[in-house]
Amino acid sequence: MKKVRAFLDKHVPTLVVLALVILALAFLQHYWSDPAKAQTIGALFSFIASAILVGVTWEYVRINQKSFSLQQAQWEQQNRVVLRFGVRRYRGRAQVWVANIGRIDFLISELRVRLKNGEKIVKNERRIVGSGSRRTFSLPDKLWSNIPLLSTFDVQLRYESQHESGHSAVRAFTIFIATNSEVLKVLRGIEDIWPVNCPKCGHFGGGMVTESLDNFDDALERELVMKSELQATCPEHSSQWSESVEHLRERRKNGQGTVQED
Ligand SMILES: [Zn+2]
Repeated sequence: MKKVRAFLDKHVPTLVVLALVILALAFLQHYWSDPAKAQTIGALFSFIASAILVGVTWEYVRINQKSFSLQQAQWEQQNRVVLRFGVRRYRGRAQVWVANIGRIDFLISELRVRLKNGEKIVKNERRIVGSGSRRTFSLPDKLWSNIPLLSTFDVQLRYESQHESGHSAVRAFTIFIATNSEVLKVLRGIEDIWPVNCPKCGHFGGGMVTESLDNFDDALERELVMKSELQATCPEHSSQWSESVEHLRERRKNGQGTVQED
């Protein structure tokens, strides 16, 4: 039964055309003696044949389009740049690592670092990260030399592949620095104190919670919310983002954020 069905599914258009041809021939033979009728029947069948042809063509175009867009999606998927990056400690310094987990090689052409004070450092690079491999990039010394305790900065990469170019996400990192300017620890995110003043009276309104912030842009956005809340509650100065003493203690106890691998 299944075989018959499969056969029918595959050959229905052919069978229909064949049946129509046989039917047309039978009619023609029957009305051979009456030319007017034979002509009408001939016209009718040629109309049916054209309709079938249009139907088949349309179906063919539809199927082709479907498989074409499927192929295109597959191609885009395979040629997409897929990168992971982070900052790690290495021999008392900090460096950026970039992993290529996509199928195509890409070039890292720029390393962008933004400091908390808004200063931007752009380093030109010319290094290829092959599919399935990882490379490291040095960071400017000024991020830790002669800086007491810790420094926070954003990192963004510019990449180029054969088919596309673009920028990675912007990510903030915090590095802890020893008195001899050696990098002790690298953490993902902003683990710095973030004081916010009340825009109305200008007094200190509290430290902002910096948990789960991806980068400085996120932090500035949160700061705006906190400022408007401080202004609205002046002079009590309360905000959902005010870092409480209990909260700080809790964070210190939990060892702050996620430690980046060495
Ligand atoms: Zn105020």
